[in-house]
Amino acid sequence: MNNNKVIQWIRSDIRDLAAYHVPQAGDYIKLDAMENPFSWPDSLLDEWLSALRTTPINRYPDPQAQQLTSIIRQDMGVANNIDIVLGNGSDELIQLIITAVTQPGRVVLAPEPTFVMYKLITKLMGMTFQSVPLKDNYDLDEEAMLAAIEKYQPAVVFLAYPNNPTGNLFSDDAIHQILSRSPGLVVIDEAYHAFAKKSYLQQLENYDNLLILRTVSKMGLAGLRLGVLMGDPNWLKEINKVRLPYNINSLTQITASIALQHSDIFKSQTDEICVQRQVLFDALAKMNGIEAYSTQANFILFRLIAGNASGVFESLKSAGILIKNLHGSTPALQDCLRVTVGTASQNQAFLKAMTSIIHR
Ligand SMILES: *Cc1c(COP(=O)(O)O)cnc(C)c1O
Repeated sequence: MNNNKVIQWIRSDIRDLAAYHVPQAGDYIKLDAMENPFSWPDSLLDEWLSALRTTPINRYPDPQAQQLTSIIRQDMGVANNIDIVLGNGSDELIQLIITAVTQPGRVVLAPEPTFVMYKLITKLMGMTFQSVPLKDNYDLDEEAMLAAIEKYQPAVVFLAYPNNPTGNLFSDDAIHQILSRSPGLVVIDEAYHAFAKKSYLQQLENYDNLLILRTVSKMGLAGLRLGVLMGDPNWLKEINKVRLPYNINSLTQITASIALQHSDIFKSQTDEICVQRQVLFDALAKMNGIEAYSTQANFILFRLIAGNASGVFESLKSAGILIKNLHGSTPALQDCLRVTVGTASQNQAFLKAMTSIIHR
């Protein structure tokens, strides 16, 4: 095809973007995407399948997902004066928030390194993204963040809590300062809440510019695409106008409703992942030439001897194990790889491969 029409009509900033790359899963032991490795017990599968039988798939879904929303409200302990908007993954909610504030010249701000979607979506919307480097220990540089907030007056500040891909929780003092000094919204993205036990949900009472973002993806329902945005009704009423009416499909609504009514099952799975996280961390930290960073999420960031990361990543891949190579993405992640915590046997396979790669 002659590319001239594409060049004529597709925005040049979009043509310049690199697409978000997701590797083919293939037959790998998949420890790259923070998925829960466990399947469902038969009793839950049976309940789910019989509910699907009576789901009216010829009808449009409930546009407000009322039943699911009330189950989420109960499960997450959301106060009645807080509103909830659901998204097709929290990725979509990030897009809705940014779309609602978009104006040329306006800024979205986040620390760096962090979740790449904040930057990607900001750019897609034609806004300016500013980042502030984290400190060497990957905590927020409070002074630099506050200076950037003062300088750029960002419409939105995104803070992933715990942060992806570093795994740590930022210090409370810095977060409270950022909340107090930000002129616009501050979104605390608690995608890894199931593994972290700490949350800013209760702080919605104290800060009227705070929004909390959660997802069911990392706790075990990544295939459903369901994110949860919580905050003051005055903000959410406007953000909800940006949402397309049927963004949460019927299968997601019924499946998540059933799953979250059995949240004890997912709680014991995520608790087991936290136990395995410690085992994996201890083993990694003992290996020669590896620095493992302490984590409150279901993944571990680790640094190899300079120049080794991509080679180790490729050798793991040849051994049938897929993790995430972060080397080359940003200076702070030089020589770094990230492994998702899997089942005990997946983790052992990973550790065994690591040991033989490092010692050869
Ligand atoms: C994985 C992740 C998300 C995306 O979650 P989805 O609900 O699957 O779209 C959002 N924020 C952070 C920090 C993540 O790591």
